[in-house]
Amino acid sequence: MGPLDTLGRPVRDLRISVTDRCNFRCTYCMPKEIFGREYEFLAREALLSFEEIDRVARSFARHGVRKLRLTGGEPLMRKGIDDLIAKLALIPDIEDLTLTTNGALLGREAQNLAAAGLDRVTVSLDSMDDTVFMAMNDVGFGVQTVLDGITAAAEAGLTPIKINMVVKRGVNDSSILAMAENFKGSGHTLRFIEYMDVGTTNGWRLDDVVPARAIVEVLDQEFGIEPIDPSYRGEVAQRWRYRDGTGEVGVITSVTQPFCGDCTRARISAEGVVHTCLFATGGTDLRQLLRAGASDEMLDEVVSGLWTKRADRYSETRASQTAGLRKVEMSYLGG
Ligand code: SAM
Repeated sequence: MGPLDTLGRPVRDLRISVTDRCNFRCTYCMPKEIFGREYEFLAREALLSFEEIDRVARSFARHGVRKLRLTGGEPLMRKGIDDLIAKLALIPDIEDLTLTTNGALLGREAQNLAAAGLDRVTVSLDSMDDTVFMAMNDVGFGVQTVLDGITAAAEAGLTPIKINMVVKRGVNDSSILAMAENFKGSGHTLRFIEYMDVGTTNGWRLDDVVPARAIVEVLDQEFGIEPIDPSYRGEVAQRWRYRDGTGEVGVITSVTQPFCGDCTRARISAEGVVHTCLFATGGTDLRQLLRAGASDEMLDEVVSGLWTKRADRYSETRASQTAGLRKVEMSYLGG
């Protein structure tokens, strides 16, 4: 079963960032003003090597992790990513080996990824409309290449495929129905993600968030949807299905209904720092430990220690603060 943290949560899911680089400059994630030409990305030797990632993943697997997700930056920009996948695919107890990508290079890579042992992919796509999508990725990248990447992934057997759409008010909320229409009946699950505050870099404002509740209402009015049970503890998305039997959609309510109580995820950054919360500022540097010659037993001790001390419930705390603030504003305004 593995260790529990201070709130009784096991560790089940490890998200591994394999690079800090990305070929998109999504305005809500890596805006050009910050990640411009001058920005210094990590040098190659600063990144965890594939051997180091494999050791860390094996240690987490010994502590209860059953799912590995490769992410970034853009994971398909890491050279030789299929070699890493081939290593990770051999870890006993890992039941789900997956990767989140913007889809730009997926058409070219899907077959290699599947051959290396990847189980499935999640593809991020924020609109069906080129103008909206290009404005969001801010590098003029068109929708069709991402759709072709999704088709290639399906043909390679990287299924079930999830599609992530971050919804930002006034930017792409007009694309919700077209996205749903496109993926309804495709066998892929579209998930709408509430736009989150990812630190001080994306100029986040609560007003920019379209609450999942509102998204569900729009979908229900147009297509008719009903809720379904989560498939496992700690599932990030709330699941809904089309009443006509043409598949399901999900909503990720990180802002309006945080789900810290069920969070079984740990994250490791490209340079080897483990964070036990997406919003954590501090972390545990495993690269230093690994490069100082730590044995697997020492690594296990550190992993066990960082998890048993874990007390993060950032989103819930933040949500109650936000709710409190809004109450004050409302009472001030007499609302
Ligand atoms: N480059 C890959 C991709 O685009 O999927 C993987 C990394 S990306 C950071 C992982 C996911 O986080 C994407 O689905 C992206 O849309 C989402 N994301 C990034 N910034 C976000 C924000 N501010 N709020 C909500 N989701 C966000």
